[in-house]
Amino acid sequence: MNDADWVGIENEAASVLSRYIQIDTTNPPGNEREGAEFLGDWLSGESIPATMYHPVPDRANLLAVLKGDGSRSPVLLLHHIDVVPAAGERWSRDPFGGVVEDGHVWGRGAIDNKSLGVMHLMAFALLRRQSVRLKRDVMMLAVSDEEMGGAVGSKWMIDNHWDDIRSEYLWDEGGVGTLGIVGDRPVFAVSVSEKRSVVVILRAGGAGGHGSMAANAPVERLLAALECLRGWSGSVELGPVTIEFLTRLSKTQSFPASWLMRNASRPWGRPLVVGKLSAIPSIDAMLRDTIRVTMLRAGDSANVSPDIAEAVLDVRLLPGTDQGGFLQLVRDVIDDETIEVQATEALTGGAASPSDSDFFRALEQAVLGSSPDAIVTPIQTPVATDSRFFRQRGVKAYGINPGIFTQSEIETIHGVDERISLRNLGMGTRIVYESLLDLCG
Ligand SMILES: [Zn+2]
Repeated sequence: MNDADWVGIENEAASVLSRYIQIDTTNPPGNEREGAEFLGDWLSGESIPATMYHPVPDRANLLAVLKGDGSRSPVLLLHHIDVVPAAGERWSRDPFGGVVEDGHVWGRGAIDNKSLGVMHLMAFALLRRQSVRLKRDVMMLAVSDEEMGGAVGSKWMIDNHWDDIRSEYLWDEGGVGTLGIVGDRPVFAVSVSEKRSVVVILRAGGAGGHGSMAANAPVERLLAALECLRGWSGSVELGPVTIEFLTRLSKTQSFPASWLMRNASRPWGRPLVVGKLSAIPSIDAMLRDTIRVTMLRAGDSANVSPDIAEAVLDVRLLPGTDQGGFLQLVRDVIDDETIEVQATEALTGGAASPSDSDFFRALEQAVLGSSPDAIVTPIQTPVATDSRFFRQRGVKAYGINPGIFTQSEIETIHGVDERISLRNLGMGTRIVYESLLDLCG
């Protein structure tokens, strides 16, 4: 395929993404069935059959397979159909309009995760259109419910239809290509591991009573506990994935920063490097356990002191952190035995996927074909993705949306005015296609 062909593909991808965004798959409730039917219809126009799975009414997962000769194990392309809610009044374009304007496709899901789905879809169809002979089965799976935990999506498929989707490699979300966040070269951050998410609830109880008197006030005790946690910061742990990330990232820096980054794990290099990296929020979150207060619940009347006050914490643990030990640490920091500390079981992530695999090499070569000065690096992502279910089953899972995004574009994910440039959509499609050609052709 030549460059002119790729301009046509870019426009075709934009039109497919625009229509996909117009199907409102906000979760809850999800309504992914309509999204899955749209993908199935499009594939059937390419003479590629697809199977629909219905875990519950109005929700669906879709699987399509291009058969290989069986000499290698399958690769699975995964994206989620559902999107997070969009507060439309703050957007400059209708979040479900699928507007194509100013060189961008606008709308909820434009990056997370419908664009990755369209890149997969287009590359998948191109393998068929070009009649590429495959060594591996290439499978495409579109799932429900990722944004709410995956119970009827990836987890359900693995629990109920593992034989249909069993694969050696998984291409999922979790990382992106960026420009301008660190150094002046594009950095393609491929998620090979993720932190574990835990929901912790702090509960202060007491007698409550008249609002005019200081009773055994639960709200005040809860606030004091939160104030203690606000001053707490997890210590930095540089695991093997993060050390490889820093080593590869050092190529974006000039001396002496490059040299310090390569030696970040040495005691004398560490304080300088950690200080510099901690100033970048997305990197800081990769380095340590974190606690964010996300919900507060107490009281329903101005003149009544409530008898219970609760705070919900979004806790993200590094792979090596022991959950029981961490909860004890929370209790120690709060230093108030009357406050109950409860936690959900941490999601376990499975072992990190290797960066010396055929998949990673094929991806790296495809990225360099489109963006010769890019750095391709493994990362340990702070967010939770469906990859964890697959890593638990021994699948080597890699997460990246292979466009080159600026910080302000990344902030539109789960935010306002989510959009993707046609250029990124075209480049991402090409990177997926060329990776698959290398890996499976
Ligand atoms: Zn997502």
